Amino acid sequence: MQNSANQELIACHECDALQQATRLPPGGVARCICCGGHLYSNPKGGLDTPLALSISTLILFLVANTYPLMTLNVAGQSKDTTLSGASWALYQANMPELAAVVWLASVVTPALIIFCNLYILASLRFRLRLPGVRALLVWVTRLQPWGMMDVFMLGILVSLVKLSGMAEVKLGAGLYAFVALIFFFTASAARFEPHLLWRRLKGST
Ligand SMILES: [Zn+2]
Repeated sequence: MQNSANQELIACHECDALQQATRLPPGGVARCICCGGHLYSNPKGGLDTPLALSISTLILFLVANTYPLMTLNVAGQSKDTTLSGASWALYQANMPELAAVVWLASVVTPALIIFCNLYILASLRFRLRLPGVRALLVWVTRLQPWGMMDVFMLGILVSLVKLSGMAEVKLGAGLYAFVALIFFFTASAARFEPHLLWRRLKGST
């Protein structure tokens, strides 16, 4: 946000106090003068770390969605399921609304966030001037709270405990990738600094 004197103003996410943004040295963190809340930062290494985290997140996301989460053995019959397969199973069990919510929160939204982050970061890091970066930066900030893979993980853990008494459960490569994905997805979101990206965007246009 800019005022008439072309000074950049930023609102605190905690207390809404409006204050002037200043250019930070690498590794610097700006805090609110009223409540001490985090305003923005300028991480060391610029966009390299968030870009590397986003690429790792994409690879883990593809593995987690390709390989089975777990295999169940009941009376000699085995059945495995993937992330999308779990939503499909809910749909087949006459729970279409729940299936849609689970699929959107655990597959679609994280995929959109990961691809948007990569597109924005690659465009700014390599000065590619790709179209639509400005609009995507607005939308990805709004989408972030809807990527709820950690909630889905909690559901998997609960079902693992319940199923372990009824069937032989074998953990799949998809589940290991999914656990790593949650950590990388969170780290990637933490290093995705919209204030820094807006500055880069202004500097490149
Ligand atoms: Zn504040």
